[in-house]
Amino acid sequence: MSSPTQEARVLRAAVFAARVHATHKRKGAAAEPYVNHVLEVAQILAEHGAPEEAILAGLLHDTVEDSDQDPDPITHERLVAEFGAAVAAIVAEATDDKSLPKETRKALQVRNAPKKSDAAKMLKLADKISNLRAITAAPPANWEHARRVEYVGWAGRVAVGLKGVNPALDALFEATYRGAMAKLAEEA
Ligand code: ZN
Repeated sequence: MSSPTQEARVLRAAVFAARVHATHKRKGAAAEPYVNHVLEVAQILAEHGAPEEAILAGLLHDTVEDSDQDPDPITHERLVAEFGAAVAAIVAEATDDKSLPKETRKALQVRNAPKKSDAAKMLKLADKISNLRAITAAPPANWEHARRVEYVGWAGRVAVGLKGVNPALDALFEATYRGAMAKLAEEA
């Protein structure tokens, strides 16, 4: 059999992610299927010229973090076996240590952002763009205005350390961030 095409590799990662996230929902009021988020992240990366490894990692970036309560949690080793070490390494760079308290994890994201690989920086920036869009369009029902402002501000602080790799992606983050802040100011 000939080696799979890029389209086949991307779709295989998309199906893998869809299966892992089959029972997961986004936190927003619309409770969208979680896979919508990872497809959006991968689309942002693909449209901004990110390398294939980053696009595949974009599809897979939440499979380890979000399957820890599942009967068959996805491990780093499993991603290495299915998608190769390079893709699995980018996912690992984009995965928080869930054993740490939430506030510590958020502080570490700000501090560690500049140390990430170029592919992980692009992935995390696309992830933040998708999350800011979601917060702006359909925030979680129980998120007060102050909490949304805090979240957008934090995403902006993480992004400072992620920029400088892909100027078009940096510009999309800036526009998304400014749009989110403007909407929040209107609602204040
Ligand atoms: Zn994500």
